[in-house]
Amino acid sequence: MRMSHYFLPTLKENPKEAEIVSHRLMLRAGMIKQTSAGIYAWLPLGHKVLKKIEQIVREEQDKAGAQELLMPTLQSADLWRESGRYDDYGEEMLRIKDRGDRDLLYGPTNEEMITDIFRSSVRSYKDLPKNLYHIQWKFRDEIRPRFGVMRGREFLMKDAYSFDLTADDARHAYQRMFLAYLRTFRRMGLRAIPMRADTGPIGGKLSHEFIILAETGESEVYAHKDWMEKDTTAGGLSYDDKEKIGEFFEEMTSLYAATDEMHDASACPEGDLIKARGIEVGHIFYFGTKYSEAMNATVQNKEGEIVPVEMGSYGIGVSRLVGGIIEANHDDNGIVWPESVSPFDIGLINLKPRDEACSKACDDLYEKLKEQGKDVLYDDRDTQAGGKFADMDLIGLPWQVVIGPRSAEKGMAELKNRKTGEKQELSLESVVERMAA
Ligand code: ATP
Ligand code: MG
Repeated sequence: MRMSHYFLPTLKENPKEAEIVSHRLMLRAGMIKQTSAGIYAWLPLGHKVLKKIEQIVREEQDKAGAQELLMPTLQSADLWRESGRYDDYGEEMLRIKDRGDRDLLYGPTNEEMITDIFRSSVRSYKDLPKNLYHIQWKFRDEIRPRFGVMRGREFLMKDAYSFDLTADDARHAYQRMFLAYLRTFRRMGLRAIPMRADTGPIGGKLSHEFIILAETGESEVYAHKDWMEKDTTAGGLSYDDKEKIGEFFEEMTSLYAATDEMHDASACPEGDLIKARGIEVGHIFYFGTKYSEAMNATVQNKEGEIVPVEMGSYGIGVSRLVGGIIEANHDDNGIVWPESVSPFDIGLINLKPRDEACSKACDDLYEKLKEQGKDVLYDDRDTQAGGKFADMDLIGLPWQVVIGPRSAEKGMAELKNRKTGEKQELSLESVVERMAA
């Protein structure tokens, strides 16, 4: 992408409405624009990151055996009357009437709708287990939307729902998702700690929040210090290995970590305990038959009896993660994207677009990198070098390639690693080789 064509409205000044660094940097890097309180338009750069995160979430859900579908944002109030949550949910729910005076709502979550989809076709234990998910916008009329996309009113969530015959099977489904979550966050370069959590208004039996530590986190959390080094992805462990997944879950949950509400200091030696602030990026629940009983979602078991299905639900805050990843990866000059979610692979800076030889070297390199399948943001604007460096650091692509008239003459370029700041003089061919590797 040529920057001269790209819609990238960066800001030099810090917007005063932004209280935390990720919000500031997302506005300054031209990733989002607020359209109403807690509601954002995703501009091209922000949209690319959102899609990358969404894709990692999708791939890891698929690997764990969940199946993607897509439910609508608008739901009928009647479904929520069946579960009893239409009244319980309160002011956070955005309620709407259609022209026929029917009550609708903008979904804050989808337990009721998925239960309805399930019950309309599944009749037998032979159709179980199932895990269905979608990645869809939610609306919650938060009392205090703040911190940009971290606590929005409209936000993108991945929500999965598991259906099993027995409580044992349902616990296994929960454990698989637990592993899938740890793998998902690790791929984004995040260390997310699963913490025992309260089941809250979703209700139920077992729940973990996945929390990344950051000074700006909204909640106080407690964890054993060993979490900071622990390998949490269980490399090589297959989703088919029920027993080993159970063991992995036991191992992970035996190391202390808890949200504020669940914290019990006697469970962890004081000297090993870290008290920190955290951002909730995911939340999983095993709630049993709460919805299936209320909504009559039943199957016939092996003995021919009709029983309600055992359910769990599993959320990931896809749009919140964009802010969360920035909270965990930035410096004084701007964002420092992990490669897996970076909006482009490489930023190419042409220091002197009016210089013919310099532009030719840049244009050639741009084409060659694209041939290698690299997504390149090419700063070909005829503007001051200082501003170009600042913009490139601000938007935080992992690699920068800088070419000026003098280096172009020698067939050289400067390669800079955004994270370490390390710079290297390389021939243009070596740049292509290095980036392709
Ligand atoms: P919180 O405690 O932060 O209000 P929650 O517990 O109400 O979140 P869940 O119902 O568990 O949220 O939703 C699943 C995930 O969706 C959360 O883990 C979080 O990452 C994300 N999420 C929830 N509310 C918001 C919001 N207002 N803006 C952005 N993401 C959100
Ligand atoms: Mg939650």
